[in-house]
Formats: sequence, structure tokens, C-alpha cells
Amino acid sequence: NKQILLVSRPKGIPTTDNFQLVEQPMPVPAQGEALIRTLYLSVDPYMRGRMSDRKSYVPPYNLQEPIGGGAIGEVIESKTPELQTGDLVVGPTGWQTHAIVMPKQVRKIDPSIAPITTALGVLGMTGLTAYFGLLDIGQPKPNETVVVSGAAGAVGMVVGQIAKLKGCRVVGIAGSDNKINYLLNELKFDAAINYKTTTDLQEALQAACPNGIDVYFDNVGGEISDAALSLLNFQARIPVCGQISLYNQEEPDVGPRIQSQILISSAMMKGFIVGNYAERFPEGAAELARWVKEGSIKYQENIVEGFENTVQAFLGLFKGENLGKQLVKVSDQ
Ligand code: NDP
Repeated sequence: NKQILLVSRPKGIPTTDNFQLVEQPMPVPAQGEALIRTLYLSVDPYMRGRMSDRKSYVPPYNLQEPIGGGAIGEVIESKTPELQTGDLVVGPTGWQTHAIVMPKQVRKIDPSIAPITTALGVLGMTGLTAYFGLLDIGQPKPNETVVVSGAAGAVGMVVGQIAKLKGCRVVGIAGSDNKINYLLNELKFDAAINYKTTTDLQEALQAACPNGIDVYFDNVGGEISDAALSLLNFQARIPVCGQISLYNQEEPDVGPRIQSQILISSAMMKGFIVGNYAERFPEGAAELARWVKEGSIKYQENIVEGFENTVQAFLGLFKGENLGKQLVKVSDQ
């Protein structure tokens, strides 16, 4: 069994030295447990937070333990009637090639709905984040303008497409021309801005949002959000989903204060964790599956091959290497 351990806490941007790939004896399931062979694993921005020893909504990772996170696997040995050999499951088994699980920790995947990888993306955690954050907090209405940052990532591209389905004008902000072209040409966003090459982001946003911003779905924080918040309409809504531009900062961000923008526009800014909606996951997953099946929501997955490339795939998130959901393929089905 191969595992990737956190061996030191990153300072600033993580490096490969913070991790170690180790080989352990194959675990053996006890009564009531099953042994899973990992097929795909997820690398996610929130993992960066758990690598630091800071209070958050989930505890930090322990040093010398494998990185925890979502993964898809196949049951290869079972000592519980609830899981059969050959079952495909998604669960929190993390960065390892094999894992022991109890049935209540995993969910069976129905491969007839969509490729199984979607259980970690558009039909899994990131799709549900987009669904509940946008619809519950953002409350988009027809003809409103929705701006989403991190627009070409796993959460962002689903946010933009749901907003289009709700009849909104959708503007995406992302970090490469390739991503901008995808948003405009494939996903039919109304406008998209490359924040890395635009000289004046606020001016570009203003041009893209002639009627101001009604919903700003924030995936990134920092200066991009400052620009968006300056254009809020009366009673705008801001689902605060992520702050990836700040995750590698050692010191708290000191920048333009946004409270006055919230005040003058009577806006509502609300942070959320997808887990807040756990009871409604079946509803969200069913709606997303319907949209994916009928082709009204498209998705992209950026799949890196090989367990040993997991750390690079994770680090790539902070360099914008992924279009859509970043996954690692660990072994063939
Ligand atoms: P993505 O697929 O969007 O991958 C991360 C992307 O962030 C990169 O591709 C990159 O795209 C962009 N990025 C990286 N660094 C910066 C930076 N300094 N400034 C601006 N953009 C940057 O990841 P996810 O869709 O999984 O997550 C998106 C956000 O949502 C994250 O902040 C994450 O923490 C958050 N999240 C929150 C959840 C919740 O429950 N609240 C659940 C899941 C995710 P680019 O090329 O455009 O720079």
C-alpha cells in the first residue's frame, strides 16, 4: 500500500519536501470492513488549509499521516454484507492506493449516470458546492448579472452554467486565454476576463457588467474580489466559497476594506461550507445529474496519471494548471 504523508507544515506555497511517499504493508479488513483499491483521487484547494496548524472548520492534518480527501475506489475484499467485491464507491480515503473502510463512510457510485470520475467533481463535492452556494445564497434571478471568480475551475464552471440555466448574464474571471476561450465558446458565458493579462481588472469588469453585479460568487478573494465588490448593485448577494489567492499567505491580508461596499449596496455576503447542506445532497446530486445527462451542464476533468504525481497535481491548483476538476488516476478500473 502506497501512501503520501504530510511530513512538515508548508510555509507559504507548499513544496514537494512537505510530503513523502511511503510503502506500507497491505491493510487487512476486520469484520464489518472492506478493503478498497483506489482508482481516482481528488486534490483540492481546501487541503492547503488543513496542512497548516490553524483552527478551521475541519481539523488540521496530522504530520506523518496520509493526506485525507475524497477518492473513488473499487472494493477488492469485503467482510461486510453491505459492500460487495467489485462495488465502486466514493469516500474519504485520501492519498493512498488502498484503504480500509466501513460501509457508512462510503457511497456507492452508479456508473450508468455518468463516468465514475464525476463522483468527485460535477456530481460530487465541487458540483454540490456550486449548486448550493449559488442557488441558496446567490439566489440568481433572470436577467441578473452573475460574476464568478475561479470561473474555469471545478466549482466555478458549474456556478456559471447553473447561472446561465437560470437566465442570468454570466461573467467569468480566470487565469489563462485557454480558459477564457473555453468559458466563452464551450460554456457560452456572456463575458470572460483573464485577470493575469488584464491591466485594469475593475475597468474590464465594468465593461463586462454594464448593469452592475447582482451576484458575485467568490472563489478566490484578494484583489479580484475587491474589483468585483466595487460594482455591486443594490441588494447584491455574495456567496463566499473560497479564498484561494490567500491560502498560501503567511500573514493575514491587509487590503482595501470591503465593508463599505457591502453597506452602500445593502448586499449580503455569506460564507458557507458545502457540508452545511449535507441533508440536501440527494436533491442537489439528482438535479446536477439530470442537467449533466440532458447536456445542459458540461464538465471538464484534468486527470493526471499516476499516484506518484499526486503532489504535483495538488501544487498545480495554485498555478492554475487545471481546467475543471483536478483528479489523479491511481489505477485502471
Ligand atoms: P479549482 O478547480 O477552481 O482550482 C483552483 C483554481 O484557482 C486554479 O485552477 C486557478 O485558476 C485558481 N487560482 C489559483 N491561485 C489563484 C490566485 N492566486 N488568484 C486567483 N485564482 C487562483 O478548485 P475548486 O473548484 O475545487 O475550488 C475553487 C474554490 O472553492 C477554492 O477557493 C476552494 O477552496 C473553494 N471550495 C469551497 C468549498 C466550500 O465548501 N466552501 C468546497 C469546494 C471548494 P486560474 O487559472 O483562474 O488562476
